[in-house]
Amino acid sequence: MDRTILIIEDEEHINEILTVQLSNAGYKTISAFDGIKGLEMALNENPDLILLDVMLPGMDGNEVCRKVREKSNVPIIMLTAREDEVDKVLGLELGADDYITKPYSTRELTARVKANLRRSAIDNIPQTQNTGDLNTIMSGELTINVERYEVSKNGKVIDITLREFELLKFLAMQPDKIFSREKLLENVWGYEYYGDVRTVDVTVRRLREKIEDDPSMPKYIITKRGVGYYFNK
Ligand code: CA
Repeated sequence: MDRTILIIEDEEHINEILTVQLSNAGYKTISAFDGIKGLEMALNENPDLILLDVMLPGMDGNEVCRKVREKSNVPIIMLTAREDEVDKVLGLELGADDYITKPYSTRELTARVKANLRRSAIDNIPQTQNTGDLNTIMSGELTINVERYEVSKNGKVIDITLREFELLKFLAMQPDKIFSREKLLENVWGYEYYGDVRTVDVTVRRLREKIEDDPSMPKYIITKRGVGYYFNK
């Protein structure tokens, strides 16, 4: 099962380094060197994951991210410069799943890629039990189908990214238990050393906008001030 990763990065030497590192890690890669071509490949080549630089000629990475998200829930990891704190949060707001700060280590890159590809790996596990109810979490107006990666509210399917889904699933499977942002980063994002806890806050905010009637008065994902978040059963 060769996973294909689309690299959208205009700096040729960085694009090449990414290609080599990912190939060495066992992935197939395809490359674009500007935003417009990158968007076209993202929509037509069906990659399993996209590495997306922010500063790009033609169309910037944030715009590419926004446009890809209108059509696809493919995992997107943004590549940001160290000084651009704003880019990170903006990218996440626009629907990116994660970001890597340049310069990054090979270990960090492969850890992030692996963590963000986890859904596909889970999808490939043969189903030993398919008992319907066990795979569905219901709470209030929400139905979370764990196997199909689907959330619906009042029977209507909600458009949700992988990361949003995994966060919701993780919290909903242990209702009323409070998790710190660090704990959520470790369990939902799947890495221990590189994460920024703001990633959790932004993802919670995006999730609330999708599942809550009033995101400022959440009923499902509740903030416990100074501690973390929990799912309200
Ligand atoms: Ca660039």
